[in-house]
Amino acid sequence: MHVGHLLGALRNFVRLSENNDCFYEVADLHALTTKFAHSREIAGDVREMVIDWLAAGIDPQRCTLFVQSQVPEISELATLLSMITPVSWLERVPTYKDQINALGMEIATHGFLGYPILQTVDIVALRGEGVPVGQDQLPHLELSREIARRFNHLYGQVLVEPEALLSQTPYVPGTDGRKMSKSYDNAILLSDSDETTDAKVKMMYTDPLKIKRTDPGRPEQCPVFFLQSAFNADNADSIAHRCRSGQLGCVADKADMAAHLNAALAPIRQRRRALESHSADVDDILNEGNKRARGVAKEVLAEVKAAMGLLY
Ligand code: SF4
Repeated sequence: MHVGHLLGALRNFVRLSENNDCFYEVADLHALTTKFAHSREIAGDVREMVIDWLAAGIDPQRCTLFVQSQVPEISELATLLSMITPVSWLERVPTYKDQINALGMEIATHGFLGYPILQTVDIVALRGEGVPVGQDQLPHLELSREIARRFNHLYGQVLVEPEALLSQTPYVPGTDGRKMSKSYDNAILLSDSDETTDAKVKMMYTDPLKIKRTDPGRPEQCPVFFLQSAFNADNADSIAHRCRSGQLGCVADKADMAAHLNAALAPIRQRRRALESHSADVDDILNEGNKRARGVAKEVLAEVKAAMGLLY
């Protein structure tokens, strides 16, 4: 995971788990929608993601971490819900056509079209009442609510209709100024070393009108300043003033930002290293979480089958 995930999701996950019974899922089946030809890489990705979560402060004593494919009830529920979900509902999901345009027709599989159903099951199988989502995810959640409502209308009140816990997900710019994303190759990873971070920051996009130190800059348009505001908030006003007034140059500002970013990420990176050398602990956490998630999903599946009259 990267700095964008840390600011946008992980800190929110930690906060939510302080006062709620939270389930956090590694959606490895969803990963197959785009990675089906490289399925063997997913196991390593699952482990890396869980290590990032734990290192970022998610406490498995306060919430449940589990892996989607290790709760087979999710797949069975997805089959059942796919029977009642019209194809037109899936096709109108805004990201569906965009993603095919972006990634090519080879991902236009049955699984890719149907992934909002699997996403719905991720929520309803755990009786999820609230789902932390950003604005861009709202249409997906609305579809989940419609599918749950349709099921309840057909078979009786069984599924919980989830509500959005709209989080203020900041638009975190990457090193090239576009949204930070691993697929754009513009991300600073939690697992990067200090040296790699320094090198990435040195190459960062800044205000293109600020060529020399003395040129007046526009910090509000600069991704370096965004990260200064996030990781060096106490000095942000002064940095903005010195950028605008031509007292601060980009080279010096980048070095300063990289130092603050590395300092903020140091405890996360230290916990990552410790977790990497204790892989049995990560296995135990996931085994425990998978068991707990399965317990809930089994109950929900039994209720769904009973409501549908499928308990022969
Ligand atoms: S001085 Fe800093 S905030 Fe201003 S444009 Fe350069 S990098 Fe961005």
